[in-house]
Amino acid sequence: MAFLEIDNMSLEFGGVKACQNVSMKLEPGILYGLIGPNGAGKSTIFNVLTGIYPPTRGDVRLSDESLVGKKPFEIAQKGIGRTFQNIRLFKELTVLENVMSAFYSSSNSSITDMVFETGKFHAEEEEVKIKSLELLKVMGIDDLAAVPAGGLPYGKQRKLEIARALGLSPKLLLLDEPAAGLNPTETRELTDLIRKIQKDRNITVLLIEHDMGLVMKICEKIYVLVQGQLVCEGPADVVQNDKRVIEAYLGVDE
Ligand code: ADP
Ligand code: MG
Repeated sequence: MAFLEIDNMSLEFGGVKACQNVSMKLEPGILYGLIGPNGAGKSTIFNVLTGIYPPTRGDVRLSDESLVGKKPFEIAQKGIGRTFQNIRLFKELTVLENVMSAFYSSSNSSITDMVFETGKFHAEEEEVKIKSLELLKVMGIDDLAAVPAGGLPYGKQRKLEIARALGLSPKLLLLDEPAAGLNPTETRELTDLIRKIQKDRNITVLLIEHDMGLVMKICEKIYVLVQGQLVCEGPADVVQNDKRVIEAYLGVDE
């Protein structure tokens, strides 16, 4: 039994086979990469793992418990945190409130109620605030705590999304193209941060990324998805030299 197991998972949207018989086994404390051309089905795997779509066939298990049919918030509570390819922040809330919102996701009250309510939640709120500030510090954006999230430059919004994902103390962190839109300096900085977070917290990370330099540098094992199917898995040197991977990326016909 692996920590996270994707077992022969397929997902079809109408006639589109977004994922076909995908099987993956993730072990604890390892940084994995998930690469593949646009439309390969990478984000779809994250959407299945986090309960946004039920798979058409197959199973997904976290510590041997099936996640199929569970709601996104239940899966988040079980320890899977994520960021989105298209940043999803509460733009009008402050940077700090965005991270604090993660701590309240188990509550029945709406996020805005919880964030703005005073008195009733005061003690809990103080503790959440302290923890949230710590996460902002980890990501190097604690000086921006009071700024509305929508006003942050792009690279810092990406960092904020990661801080928020860490709010639920995930055992598995899914990062969907965290370096998209970043310049080379920001990308290098983020690369180091992702590795540091993974090591310090000893969590499992599954990273979707187009920046090959980033993936090859930090991922211990890389999965390659082409047209919904896994075509190769292994460490950077194996993946880089795999014929199917080279063909997929260069568009070479057999
Ligand atoms: P990637 O993240 O690798 O670029 P996606 O997982 O976003 O790829 O998409 C895989 C395929 O599934 C694409 O053909 C895409 O158009 C399709 N797809 C993704 N989400 C949906 C959806 N909600 N409805 C219909 N088709 C979808
Ligand atoms: Mg995607």
